[in-house]
Amino acid sequence: MSTPSLLILAGDGIGPEVMAEVRRIIDWYGAKRDLPFDVSEGLVGGCSYDAHGTPLTDETMARAQEVDAVLLGAVGGPAYDNLDFSVKPERGLLRLRKEMDLYANLRPAQCFDALADFSSLKRDVVAGLDIMIVRELTSGIYFGEPRGIIQEGNERVGINTQRYTESEIERVARSAFELARRRGNKVCSMEKANVMESGVLWREVVQKIGDTEYPDVELSHMYADAGAMQLCRWPKQFDVIVTDNLFGDLLSDAAAMLTGSLGMLPSASLGAPMENGRPKALYEPVHGSAPDITGQGKANPIACILSFAMALRYSFDKGNEADRLEKAVEKVLADGLRTADLLGEDGATPVTTSEMGDAILAALDASL
Ligand code: NAD
Repeated sequence: MSTPSLLILAGDGIGPEVMAEVRRIIDWYGAKRDLPFDVSEGLVGGCSYDAHGTPLTDETMARAQEVDAVLLGAVGGPAYDNLDFSVKPERGLLRLRKEMDLYANLRPAQCFDALADFSSLKRDVVAGLDIMIVRELTSGIYFGEPRGIIQEGNERVGINTQRYTESEIERVARSAFELARRRGNKVCSMEKANVMESGVLWREVVQKIGDTEYPDVELSHMYADAGAMQLCRWPKQFDVIVTDNLFGDLLSDAAAMLTGSLGMLPSASLGAPMENGRPKALYEPVHGSAPDITGQGKANPIACILSFAMALRYSFDKGNEADRLEKAVEKVLADGLRTADLLGEDGATPVTTSEMGDAILAALDASL
């Protein structure tokens, strides 16, 4: 099998700072686990605009289509706020998602024991939590036509349309079932079939895919509003949740915050399988470029490091190595090391971005 390829797009602000720590971890896997990666780098966002006048060049886009996985840091910053919409840093990210057709957005909500007190919920509700929300990302009400604001008589009307085809539901359902097989083997599908026809279709299609292709995976259905309540009441009842673009936007933000800091949250966006069987994939932390702390050694690299752990698991079929990396992060947190965003408890040891990277590498060494 050829060496797996990775394209690193560190981006702007703290993007390059957190990605530097990921680079060290990638090198560690090459040196210590005989798991080398063919790594290339490119520009995205404001730094690409500065160099090339566009937030993503055609060459970088083409490279993203070729590699096994893309790892992205963050884009944006105040220097680019007044640019024309067509060249804003975020357009680079949107182009990647659109042209790679990344329809399944994976947002884990995982709560490390050591950080359970950072949650707004009680410790026993969140400690040890490990759930995955799969949000449909390329269709639904954010894209459906007709849309707009029209004049009707003497008042204006705002219109958006929820629209899902069977094939769009089928493919994201398959992503969720596949993930469940690698995790706790349970999928809960959420919609509003009680009041929306698109929800009726969603439920039917997910059930059909479950019955015909994944009879071994336990499938349940829940109305999305009830799902929101259950996420706050007892989130540990879930394993994989699959839902549409709008509900997924809300539910994944709410679920992610069960676990504490923005600096801890990874994500993945997956598309159709490529010729080698791997899905098209982009891995990135949920946070942005954090201009308020850029260049100060304060950025928490864990969200970006955990995004790489997701790549190991979902693109490279190295679940054991992903576990190893997640355990290394858990160990460092249990030892009390904290970047600035996680400080606040007595007895914690403040560390910089690179010191956090050092400690995670040491924990990886200790795992051998
Ligand atoms: P942000 O996520 O950059 O920052 C929000 C707050 O969280 C800040 O106080 C920041 O210091 C803190 N924070 C974020 N990541 C952190 C980390 N790893 N470690 C420690 N603290 C962290 O969101 P924002 O301030 O709304 O946006 C800043 C810029 O980032 C904007 O230009 C925005 O458009 C862009 N943005 C990009 C992405 C992306 O690249 N995917 C996502 C969101 C925002």
